[in-house]
Amino acid sequence: MQLIYDNLKTYHQLYDKYKDYEGINNIKTINDNAGIAPVSVDRRIIDMLLFSKEMYRITDGTVNIALGPVLEIWHIYRTAGIDDPLNAQLPSMEELIRANSFTDINQVIIDEENSTVFLTNENMSLDVGAIAKGYAAEQVTKIAFQKGYTNFLLSVGGNTRAVGTKGQEKAPWSVGIQNPDKSSEQTSLYTMALTDLSLVASGNYERYYTVDGKTYHHIIDPNTLMPSDYFTAVSILCEDSGMADALSTAIYNMPFEKGKAFIESFDNVEAMWIFPNGERKFSNHFKDFILE
Ligand code: ADP
Ligand code: MG
Repeated sequence: MQLIYDNLKTYHQLYDKYKDYEGINNIKTINDNAGIAPVSVDRRIIDMLLFSKEMYRITDGTVNIALGPVLEIWHIYRTAGIDDPLNAQLPSMEELIRANSFTDINQVIIDEENSTVFLTNENMSLDVGAIAKGYAAEQVTKIAFQKGYTNFLLSVGGNTRAVGTKGQEKAPWSVGIQNPDKSSEQTSLYTMALTDLSLVASGNYERYYTVDGKTYHHIIDPNTLMPSDYFTAVSILCEDSGMADALSTAIYNMPFEKGKAFIESFDNVEAMWIFPNGERKFSNHFKDFILE
């Protein structure tokens, strides 16, 4: 546990966009130097950003770590609205569109040789919230595995990574999927049986605020610049937890038919979609992993 904890802590500091840490250049340092200068960073940042660019490419841009300026606006309105619910407001489309002109991921310049990252415009910023937690969980899983830990379950705030099996009976790890409907007495929808698999969910039920009786959550559709409202939650099952994290945000932002075709284009990736009316839909083999 200490090994995993220490490594997760290091990743957390590297991927933090809110805080400075003595002697560390992190995501915040990169953002602070937007339009000013390339920043020397740890290889673990370079690799995560390269992975994120690849995720942008395969998800048709629905997961974009350069969406920072737009996400920042939503963050400001959301926190203000939570602090002072009676005066909660929505950002104007005008300011969202203006911010969106600084979200081109091709302007995130990664120099692998010199291990630097440069955002070419001062208004740009990175937000790695959709990918970094799952990516870090996967890297730490690999570290633990290489140290000889071949059976464990790692749960990092909604991202679960199962390695090997549980106990002497070599049972699969069992992990619950939370019911997005918090008014329901049924807190968990399914218990899943996992071996060498990650289970990651994205949903509208954790971080949101309310304006004029309507809730607005934290996953933003890059096409509309508004919170995506196709689903209350989605879940992804696949081995790599970084991939699972990226794909869960991606299909949350895609209409069902597009997301279904997208998921079926991969081997060994399964998904579940939960619609606002409570209806659930599944990829072809998701149900094979339901224990009860
Ligand atoms: P969770 O916060 O439940 O882990 P996600 O993995 O879906 O959920 O990530 C949501 C976070 O990702 C948001 O808080 C925000 O920082 C960021 N984000 C929101 N929309 C997008 C998007 N379209 N592309 C990239 N990042 C996003
Ligand atoms: Mg995600």
